[in-house]
Amino acid sequence: MGRNREVLVVGAGAAGVAAAMAAADNGAAVTVVEAHPYPGGELVGGLPIDGCLNARGEWLVGGPAQALFDGCRRRDGYIGPVFDWRLNWGVCLDPVAMRLAVVDELARRGVRLSLGSIAQSAEVTDGRLTSVEVAQRQGRARLAADLFIDASGDAALSALAGVECDQPAADVLQPVSLTFRVANVDLPALMTFIRDHPEELMLAESPVIDQSPAECAQALYDSGLPFVPLSARGRLLGAAIASGAVAPCTAVFMWPTSRARREVGLNMTRLAGVDATLNTAWSEALPKLAAQVEQGVAFLKNKVPGFGQAVLSDTSYAVGVRETRRIRGMAQLTDDAVKEARHTADGIARGAHHIDLHGAGTAQTRIPVRGGGSYDIPYGCLVPVGVANLLVAGRCISSTRAANGSCRVMGTCLATGQAAGTAAGMMAEQGIREAGGLEVQELRERLKGQGAVVEGVG
Ligand SMILES: Cc1cc2nc3c(=O)[nH]c(=O)nc-3n(C[C@H](O)[C@H](O)[C@H](O)COP(=O)(O)OP(=O)(O)OC[C@H]3O[C@@H](n4cnc5c(N)ncnc54)[C@H](O)[C@@H]3O)c2cc1C
Repeated sequence: MGRNREVLVVGAGAAGVAAAMAAADNGAAVTVVEAHPYPGGELVGGLPIDGCLNARGEWLVGGPAQALFDGCRRRDGYIGPVFDWRLNWGVCLDPVAMRLAVVDELARRGVRLSLGSIAQSAEVTDGRLTSVEVAQRQGRARLAADLFIDASGDAALSALAGVECDQPAADVLQPVSLTFRVANVDLPALMTFIRDHPEELMLAESPVIDQSPAECAQALYDSGLPFVPLSARGRLLGAAIASGAVAPCTAVFMWPTSRARREVGLNMTRLAGVDATLNTAWSEALPKLAAQVEQGVAFLKNKVPGFGQAVLSDTSYAVGVRETRRIRGMAQLTDDAVKEARHTADGIARGAHHIDLHGAGTAQTRIPVRGGGSYDIPYGCLVPVGVANLLVAGRCISSTRAANGSCRVMGTCLATGQAAGTAAGMMAEQGIREAGGLEVQELRERLKGQGAVVEGVG
């Protein structure tokens, strides 16, 4: 059958891009529907890509993720995996390079883009999705396909198709944020501050770290790369929050984005109580977060060594959403599976990020994965109950709330995206009509053959 089977992916973030690449690599004809005018979602927003390696430094992603990293490398925008000497490794890169890599990798595979298109209703007949209606500038369009992948982050397509989802009340949801980057940072001055003031930082939280905070600060200095949070429990940020100069936050999360521009990314804004599935709530959040960015830049320039001559170089392309809906699937990723680094025979992707739940004000829950290892995500977490020809990838897979605090990071979204896209490609190739009917061991073999990491590391 091959190319005569149409796969429609809703959402072009980490999960949707990887899903589209993998589905095309496995012979499907792929269209991606994306609400924004540019593909990439949070993947091109300037954040470090967490969850690509476990805390021991072993890689957990391959295939599309590595192709995208290679694309960044070719554009001189790849810094690579950096350890934060707190909990995790992040793949640091220049988001401008990633923006081009995403477009290039999709184009090379012949993936059709339907940008600026919001999926707003779904037609389901006899338990099968048949088409999605999208709102576009020129009006509405109905897009039909054989197989669908919901990579919307919000489980938007699943909800439209009637799949049961879970979503906490607005006051429980993790806060939204607007991240930003500043260039022209005096890195030697910043790294010296980091080395000399471990008490201002969050360090040594992972069970695999047996060094003192001072030794971790020295190791960061030796790396020359500022991937470390400035803690609200420290004197510097604590005083700024107490005086009202900075809005309450757990930390100023900081990571390198470009050596050439001497640029770092920063995450220090937050607004709780926002249900980001509602356009009104999400839109009202933007001016408040933008004001926090201005405060943040002033704080950095006035108080933090190395930032005196820094300039704001960018803000994220949109308000960042950590949490909305999660689908109910054939299986569910649980808190214990994440905490205990559980491995299962039906794992199709690996996660390793700590359970990371941001709260209001300075609150944040962080629970590391046992032994700095990784856990399996069972195939059933990608298969919603009730719609036969739909797969789900990324932030909205079937998971408990705490487990989602781990699997929502982008490395893991790239991995579940690869799995969903490969599964869709195999279904197309073999004429399988129900996602639940796919032979999981065959999927695992295909994934391994295409660079995914589904076994062999802790
Ligand atoms: C402030 C913040 C900081 C974070 N820090 C990190 C970090 O340091 N490292 C890390 O790895 N992760 C981090 N995360 C988590 C991570 O960025 C996200 O969980 C992850 O990117 C989700 O990927 P996704 O592909 O599932 O969704 P997204 O990247 O959100 O992509 C979903 C896409 O679907 C589109 N879409 C939604 N609904 C529709 C619709 N109805 N029709 C058409 N298109 C639609 C959206 O426009 C979007 O582009 C952070 C998140 C936030 C908000």
